[in-house]
Formats: sequence, structure tokens, C-alpha cells
Amino acid sequence: MGEVTFSIDENEELLKTVWPYLVKLRAGFVCQVCSYKPKAGLQDILAHHIVPVQLGGKYTLKNGKCLCDKHHSEAHRILLPAVKTSGHTEAIGKLRKQAV
Ligand SMILES: [Zn+2]
Ligand SMILES: [Zn+2]
Repeated sequence: MGEVTFSIDENEELLKTVWPYLVKLRAGFVCQVCSYKPKAGLQDILAHHIVPVQLGGKYTLKNGKCLCDKHHSEAHRILLPAVKTSGHTEAIGKLRKQAV
């Protein structure tokens, strides 16, 4: 009757699969900006990476935000110029501050 041990590192693929659900669950299944509640299922809210995976963002709850379609598009609109204009290091630094 040994304990079931679960290593995040060894189960990275599993984590990527459940991460969106965990982010939405933590947010109470509403948009964290406007409190939009999805009408049917969870299709119209998204789990967003505050620091994008391409920039080293992790699949952690800290780095996740539950957003509606509108605020998800907005988050990416803000994100792209920030990365382009201030260079990666500074942009990532700014994003990390948000990822609390
Ligand atoms: Zn919203
Ligand atoms: Zn996103």
C-alpha cells in the first residue's frame, strides 16, 4: 500500500493536458478580467500563459490566467509589441511581475 508519487517533471505531457483545466478551475471558470461566465461548457474561456511558453513561461498556476475570448485577444495584442520593442529580457521581466 505504497503512496502514489507524482512527479511533475516526469509527467510534463500530462501536466500540459490538465493545465488549462486547473487554471480555469482556480479562476472559478470565469474570465479574470471581466468575470465573463461561459454559457455552455468551457469552450469560450481560455487558459492563457502570462509569460508565453516560447519565452520560457511554465505550465504553472502562477503563470496561468483564465480569460474570455475578448480579453485573451487583448492580452496577446499587448504582449507582442512589448516583446518586439523592449527586447526579450525586459519584456519577460515585466510579464513575470504580472505572473503572481
Ligand atoms: Zn473578459
Ligand atoms: Zn494566450
